Amino acid sequence: MSKNQEFVKFDKVDKSYDGKVLVVKDLNLDIAEGEFITMLGPSGSGKTTCLMMLAGFETPTNGEIFLDKNPISNIPPHKRGIGMVFQNYALFPHMTVYENLAFPLKVRKINKDDIDKKVDKALSMVSLSGFENRMPGQLSGGQQQRVAVARALVFDPQVVLMDEPLGALDKNLRESMQYEIKHIHESIGVTVVYVTHDQSEALTMSNRIAVFNDGKVQQLSSPDKLYEEPVNSFVAEFIGENNTFAGEVTNFQKDQCKVKLSNGSEIIANPISVSSNGDKTTVSLRPERALINTKNKMDNNFKGKIEEVIYHGDHTRVRIDLLGNKEFILKVPNSSANMDIKMGNEINVSWNSHDARALDPK
Ligand code: ADP
Ligand code: MG
Repeated sequence: MSKNQEFVKFDKVDKSYDGKVLVVKDLNLDIAEGEFITMLGPSGSGKTTCLMMLAGFETPTNGEIFLDKNPISNIPPHKRGIGMVFQNYALFPHMTVYENLAFPLKVRKINKDDIDKKVDKALSMVSLSGFENRMPGQLSGGQQQRVAVARALVFDPQVVLMDEPLGALDKNLRESMQYEIKHIHESIGVTVVYVTHDQSEALTMSNRIAVFNDGKVQQLSSPDKLYEEPVNSFVAEFIGENNTFAGEVTNFQKDQCKVKLSNGSEIIANPISVSSNGDKTTVSLRPERALINTKNKMDNNFKGKIEEVIYHGDHTRVRIDLLGNKEFILKVPNSSANMDIKMGNEINVSWNSHDARALDPK
């Protein structure tokens, strides 16, 4: 049976808290059954509000949300079959781990034998078998968050919502939990809607990412597309590292354009959001798409001066003064040792016009 591609559907959803300002604007988003989708964006961009509407703690001002084809506006939170994990959604401190997990099952009137089985299964999923009788205060932060994940999954919800669940953990633990949650998702196939402001977390975990800014989805795509093919300057800046050149289109063609920079140079770029000569644009180029002193034939070749060289183990970051941009960053793999990479040296920098995306002006 094919999966429902619109298992969760936000249909023209607006949200205003004060009746004036829309903090979510015309959200149209289809989430497939079993998908891991992440809402990624800066603080205040409307991510939590979207989760709260899906969970049933907030109501859309306009539009409707559907779960498995049914409108859910009039269904109370506890009847939506949705599990939740929040950064500050603490465990019940006076209950044991077992009791914490049993709670959502008791509410659903599950019998004792089934509760025991489900709690066992959920704890083993998060590698905490044997911790049934601990109190939350006797667990580390990471273990508590794993219990919270287990509690969100224990009643076999249709959808699990996670709002910055790893935000309070230190970096190493956060990264290992990212893989753990990802693997749990892969093994049970539940639909996950995840919220974070951390792009590397989003790229690591998600099938698709919806990038939010100012209450609007800027781009919805797979992690690789989001990085390789940002559709606007906000996404290009927010995801990964980005070199930019501001200029004006001088020779527009359907699949190539020239962009004149303020220092008078012209670069050849890929016209993404420009459509005619005279359009202002910010050209976006990922650091690893530019090469130093290459013999490869590329259609952009310029001289630059090395301003800074930083060794990073697997690669070297080189900052170059190029075409009036003193912050041009390039990454050189350390396997291809290049003797010319020294501060103060003049070097050739090249890239293909296809990788230089002429986007909206910043
Ligand atoms: P994010 O999760 O992306 O940081 P939020 O959804 O929490 O963003 O917030 C979006 C906007 O809505 C912000 O401007 C925030 O101040 C406002 N907001 C969030 N919750 C409330 C609320 N309960 N009452 C009034 N304004 C709110
Ligand atoms: Mg939030």
